[in-house]
This record gives sequence, C-alpha cells and structure tokens, in this order.
Amino acid sequence: MSGVRLYEWQNPHPTEIAPLLTDFLCALPGPTHIKLSGRDGGRCRVVVTLLHGNEPSGLSAVHALLRQGVEPAVDIHIFIANVDTARTQPFFSHRMLPGERDLNRCFRAPFDTDDQARLAGALCERWQKLAPEALIDIHNTSGVGPPFGVVKFIADEHEALISLFTHRVVMTDLVLGSVMDLSGRFCPVVTIECGGAGSSESDRTALIGLTQYVSLDRVLDLKPDNVIMDYFHHPLRLELVPGVAVDYGDEALLMRGISLRSDLENMNFNYVEPGTRLGYLTGELIQVLQARTSQGEDRLADFFFAEQGRLLARVRMKFFMATNSPEIARTDCLLYFVPA
Ligand SMILES: [Zn+2]
Repeated sequence: MSGVRLYEWQNPHPTEIAPLLTDFLCALPGPTHIKLSGRDGGRCRVVVTLLHGNEPSGLSAVHALLRQGVEPAVDIHIFIANVDTARTQPFFSHRMLPGERDLNRCFRAPFDTDDQARLAGALCERWQKLAPEALIDIHNTSGVGPPFGVVKFIADEHEALISLFTHRVVMTDLVLGSVMDLSGRFCPVVTIECGGAGSSESDRTALIGLTQYVSLDRVLDLKPDNVIMDYFHHPLRLELVPGVAVDYGDEALLMRGISLRSDLENMNFNYVEPGTRLGYLTGELIQVLQARTSQGEDRLADFFFAEQGRLLARVRMKFFMATNSPEIARTDCLLYFVPA
C-alpha cells in the first residue's frame, strides 16, 4: 500500500547493540520494527518512540533495555520512527525536518499525501495486524517539567499503563492526528511524556516504565497501591493566530505578535496565579492568540486578558508543555493549560 519501508530486526543480541546511543541510532537503516520474543508468545505489546526527532528518552530506554537483554513477558514490538530526523546533526535537535510535517499529526487519513502520512499509515496498518494488548508512545516534553501521561478517556487500563511511568494523567479529547487518537480502535493507547529532553531524570523515567511494560506479566489491571493518580481534564491549547510573530524576552515585538517571558517553561505543573504576567503583546489579544475547544469555541478571554500591552492570566491555572522554542510555539502551540 505504501512506499515507505519499515526495517525489521528480530531478537537482536545484546552484543549487537552499540554501546553509545548515537552509534545505535546511526546503525538503524531507517524507521525500524524490533521484535522481541516473550515467554508468552500468544500476546504482544507495542511501543513506539522517536516520532519526534528531538525527544530521545524513549530511544535511550529501548537502547538500555536491548543492551541488558531483558526477557520480555510477552512478545514486544518496538517501533523507532523518525530515525533520519533524530540523526540529522546535531543529534536530536529537530522535531521534524524542515519542510516536513509533524509525524505525530499524521495518524489520520489520508495516508498517501507525503512520506510522513505514508509512514504513519504503514505503522497503523502494522499495529492493527499485530492486535497488541496495549500500545504506548514515548515522548519528551518541549520544555522542562515533570513526566505525565496523556489519554483520550479515563479507563482502568490507561491508568495502569501510565502508572508504570508516572502518577500524572492529562486527559484530552482534542483530535490532532496523533497516535493517541487511535485509542480504543484496536487496543488501549497512552502517550507518555517523560519530561524535558536531555535530562537524565527523563531518561530514567522512560527506562523504569519501559522495563516494567516489557517484563511484567500483566500491565492492564495493575492496582497502583500507594499511588494516587493526579488528573488534569481537557487542557486547552494556547496557540498563535496563524502568521503572527513569537519570541521570548522582556521587550515587545515590533510586529504583530507576542514576546513571552523567557522562564515560561518553569511554570509547567506549577500554579499560575491570576494577574501573572506572561508576556508582551503587540496588537489586540484576539489578533495574536487563540484557545479553541474541540468544538471550535475560542475560550481565550475566559483565561487570559491584556492590559497595557501585557498578557496576563485571568484565573488560577496549571500549564503544561510550555515551550521556550519559537519554532515549536509557531508550528504546534505555546502551552496547554487547565483551570486550577
Ligand atoms: Zn513528542
């Protein structure tokens, strides 16, 4: 159906895995499907990572696991997606390559428009055929911050899968064309955001979670004992109005747009109090920013207001995925928020 090639690698021996993460990455011929045989060959689980080339924690966990030669409980299918993007120099610096679409926005038809859509289509097809009992997708957040899981709806299996990694759960019904949109179609799907890229803490979160996901006999009906899951419902995305400028710093821009405070990402998962200054606006608030619900209603004015050219929080909120990258702010969003 597609011209995109998924390379297959069956039961690699630990001695075949290069000791250095970047050497391991460079040895992959492209998007790769690694198959590990488990004790119970009648069941399987899927893990996908590196949909975004600048989010290495999932890959680093896969690498460590393969080097250790852990015996999986069930058959494990590992998909390493955006290999070419991740190894474009400097390593792990591009979310996607210039001119390409965000791969994690391509998991919906049509699957024949470009290489990203074809790869997403090939992955979907492969996953559906495998009929796994679960699928997890491992990412890093764009900015610094603690780990959390993302689900489309509350379900015991989702909670169990996320509890392997973290106790924070973000629930969202925004349909973006991400892997998570597949949840409920053929198996439970959760996205794990391990925290910021390049942090050993994030890598450790990924490795601890993935090791459990691979080696435990059961991962869907765990009753997390002394863990109380922390839920954040239906965050909204704070987005730029297309075509406006964005930057970070303490001076307003000369053109229509926003200059956000440069420590914005430090607000991730902390309370943002009413009246907190978030940046400087050039132009009217609604000409610069938007915050649409899944029904398309713009809720911006309920949560933010402008005063003397400053962007301020109207109510108490929590932010996540706040980024300090103008590129990600432009192509994805500035941050996610929920009222506290
Ligand atoms: Zn990502």
